[in-house]
Amino acid sequence: MDRSSALTEQFLSSLPQADHALPNFIQAIREVATDVMTVEKNNADWTAARVLNRLAEPDRVISFRVTWEDDDGAVQINRGWRVQGSNVIGPYKGGLRFHPGVTLDDLRFLAFEQCFKNALTGLPLGGAKGGADFDPRGRSRSEIMRFCQAFMRALAPFIGPDKDVPAGDINVGTEEIGNLFGAWAQQAGLYQGALTGKGLSYGGSAVRTEATGYGLIYFLQAMLERMGEALEDKRIAISGKGNVARHAAAKAMALGAKVIALSDTAGTIHAADGLSRDALDWVAERKSAGESLGPLPNRIDAEFAEGATPWEYPADIALPCATQNEIDADQAQALVDNGVTLLAEGANMPTTADGLRVLRKHSVTYAPGKAANAGGVAVSGLEMSQMSQRRFMSADEVDTALKGIMADIHARVSEDGQRSGGVNYARGANVAAYRRLASAITAQGVL
Ligand code: GLU
Repeated sequence: MDRSSALTEQFLSSLPQADHALPNFIQAIREVATDVMTVEKNNADWTAARVLNRLAEPDRVISFRVTWEDDDGAVQINRGWRVQGSNVIGPYKGGLRFHPGVTLDDLRFLAFEQCFKNALTGLPLGGAKGGADFDPRGRSRSEIMRFCQAFMRALAPFIGPDKDVPAGDINVGTEEIGNLFGAWAQQAGLYQGALTGKGLSYGGSAVRTEATGYGLIYFLQAMLERMGEALEDKRIAISGKGNVARHAAAKAMALGAKVIALSDTAGTIHAADGLSRDALDWVAERKSAGESLGPLPNRIDAEFAEGATPWEYPADIALPCATQNEIDADQAQALVDNGVTLLAEGANMPTTADGLRVLRKHSVTYAPGKAANAGGVAVSGLEMSQMSQRRFMSADEVDTALKGIMADIHARVSEDGQRSGGVNYARGANVAAYRRLASAITAQGVL
């Protein structure tokens, strides 16, 4: 066993027993530990401060009942959570996810990853994540509104503009943020930026909706540039049909790439020469109607393959933008067999540990979500400053700032991930974020 594996195992065995029952959390923390434990051990202050152990234990986990009435007047009960990871470099910050499959394991790993992602943005943002096991599918708009109001009744005491600032994530978009913000403002009796992802008419930022997808493409451009390549004519396979997937696709198309696939749980929409704008609009329509992508109408020049994933087609680049653990070893092998040489994560931890091993074995250049998808939370950071200043930026200004932030993240990550013949982006992201967090933790004392 090499030094880093030995230190990683030693570190993992120091975690509370109960945490070993959280597979996603352990997967996320193992990846980070492998890269940073040697860095921690080489710095006496960081070793003494037990930095990674402190980041592994969230500041607090809030769990609450959400009670609401459906359209038939029946009482419904859900479970909500907020995991406040660390506020050592800024107020807690991270999205809310509504999905029947959400577990505390997911939110623990997501809050942990968010601390690292937010550190990479260079902005004063701590890390958190939250959500509920609520399934919005099949629910009316007024049911969703009542759910959001009930959720906020329970969460409001724990958040605020300098305390914890939630935003959207899976199934929490502009409409839900509108309901959540309205409920918070009414309860708090304040008009402040306690949430981001707000609509433009009440304190939102231009380009926030597009930011994660656009930022992913700006990060990809920086990677390609470093390798002496360009985005133009590259064939890109994208999974997902949500906010991140669609805006990444739109930006990639606008910059001359061919987006050959988008997907949902029912299957994949594919066009070998690249999907058209019409196809992308169709995907957006189906998403907002809560319908699956297929079957396609005749006017859309593409095929819908039921049950297929985007990784089953020839491509140069893969951008998983759906959810965690969507690429296992088989999917990773399929990507490699289809010619993919670069993968950048739009979702949080979409690649499993086995999937990663396959990518590494075949020298696929890999950019982790905490670097590649940080554009969303970065623009959330800009939304917070705009709201505090009561002075808003134009879409062009935000887009330029986003490009600058993604280029800075790429530079930071490349520096710490330098290795002979290229960059190890995963290591670079983990180490760069860790350094910032570690220096803030040690500066503030034993807390
Ligand atoms: N949910 C997004 C993420 O995973 C955005 C979080 C935010 O804007 O606070 O980074």
